[in-house]
Amino acid sequence: MKKQNSIKKNSICRTKPNVDIKEYKSSISKSDYYYISRKAREFILKNKICELPINLEELIVKNKWYLASYNEIKQYGYLDDEIIKNDWGLSVFINNSYLILYDDTLSEGAKRFTIAHEIGHIFLNHFSGDVKSDSIETQASMFAARLLMPMCVLYECRIDAVEELEKLCSVSKVAAQYRFERLQKLKIRNKFYTDKQERKVYKLFKGFIKKYNKDNNKSKFKDFFNKIIGKFNKVK
Ligand SMILES: [Zn+2]
Repeated sequence: MKKQNSIKKNSICRTKPNVDIKEYKSSISKSDYYYISRKAREFILKNKICELPINLEELIVKNKWYLASYNEIKQYGYLDDEIIKNDWGLSVFINNSYLILYDDTLSEGAKRFTIAHEIGHIFLNHFSGDVKSDSIETQASMFAARLLMPMCVLYECRIDAVEELEKLCSVSKVAAQYRFERLQKLKIRNKFYTDKQERKVYKLFKGFIKKYNKDNNKSKFKDFFNKIIGKFNKVK
């Protein structure tokens, strides 16, 4: 295989995304933080995503990108062993499109997070060379979390356990845990729908949310009732 045809390290994202999916307020500016949240919602709206877990393969086809595992590509000799050893996923701009590659040995949750992270790099224009920031890995992971686990949908589906979130979004336990903690904080502060765009996301998912709550026997009345019971037990 000719050297110039091989996938080189300098043209790719190199990361193990699952290790940096915490909330990053300390390592990222406030404006970047809101920008990434907006971009993730923009992507959901643009692609008319309306149910969970999000079908990443379908999204990739829809956007005319390509997806392959390391093993699939390795047989053609396009990938060097160092990448396979160190990185969970990568993206390459090739023939006017993007090819997303992922490690076949990952768990389903880690694989999905890795692919969503790569979609983040693409949609946030990290390959254009215009974005010169040390935080692009953080940004891509923040995008992934917000794409796979849209907060207003979690809220409306009345998620009340990490395991429920993990199953609903088909993510790893670690990813679900961080997002669940964030959900709890926002519930306390009642910080939903502060942006009009979030209402639009809710509207897209409305049918899904209704069905999910019906199938799982969740209702507003039950939430209210539980709150009352909770208060009653406290004063007893
Ligand atoms: Zn990356």
